[in-house]
Amino acid sequence: MMKFYGKAEETGQMILRAFQSGSVPSALAPLFIQSSQERYCACWSWLNQLLVALHGYSDARTYKGWQDVQRQVRKGEKAFNIFEPVRVTVQDETTNEERVIVIGYKTGPRFGLEQTDGEPLPGTEQIQQFIDSLPLLAVAQAWGIRVSTYSGKEGKAHGYFRTRGNEAEAIALGVENLSTWAHELVHAADHRLGNLTEKGQHWRSETVAELGGCILLHMLGRPTEADSGGAWNYIQHYAQANDLDPLNACVEVLNRTCQAVSLIMQTDGETSGTVNETVSNLV
Ligand SMILES: [Zn+2]
Repeated sequence: MMKFYGKAEETGQMILRAFQSGSVPSALAPLFIQSSQERYCACWSWLNQLLVALHGYSDARTYKGWQDVQRQVRKGEKAFNIFEPVRVTVQDETTNEERVIVIGYKTGPRFGLEQTDGEPLPGTEQIQQFIDSLPLLAVAQAWGIRVSTYSGKEGKAHGYFRTRGNEAEAIALGVENLSTWAHELVHAADHRLGNLTEKGQHWRSETVAELGGCILLHMLGRPTEADSGGAWNYIQHYAQANDLDPLNACVEVLNRTCQAVSLIMQTDGETSGTVNETVSNLV
């Protein structure tokens, strides 16, 4: 089961030595994913677009909206809710002019593109190409996790891993950086192993995901995209906020991290039938 544990630990130690000596490259800039103009939900509020992505869908419309573009919601599919503004027309008491104001929000049911069948849609190909190009995508698929994107923004989360009840449900990406994808996939593996018990953004689970993502991409022979510098910044940020030494934080979670990485590599070997044993040298 933990066939890759040794390699993961060796790679992890290599990364920790680089952290310690300060020989990590500077962090890579985030490559924000911009939603295509042709995506129907592209003009929705950022929150509503995020809701679409968090449910694992690349676009969304109403039941009728899908019929309008020759697509049909499959039988048994459940809608999810977005927020719709409630508008009323009021009359200004002094000028007598009528104007429309938003007095609140209500929820409105929508269906995701992936819940429908029918005519292909323009504009979704680019996003699909990006998702299809992700290394280890087959691992997420084997675990029943939907992968989707949303429009990334400065100062907002670069990615999400979402569970429903106890089940892993979706990974949503706001950036093209592979380090974010690897980070979310490690969260999924950590969850699958029953180790992800912290609620919210906890230094322990975040260090597992960030260090694990870095190890994973190094093991795949992609040291640049592993973004050791970005990983170090991220881990330091969480450690400092909790009065911890960042290297000690890494050491404390190294075993749990290597278990998650190992599970991903093992699942990849099982799903693709080939075993990738490339381990690159840390730069
Ligand atoms: Zn995270």
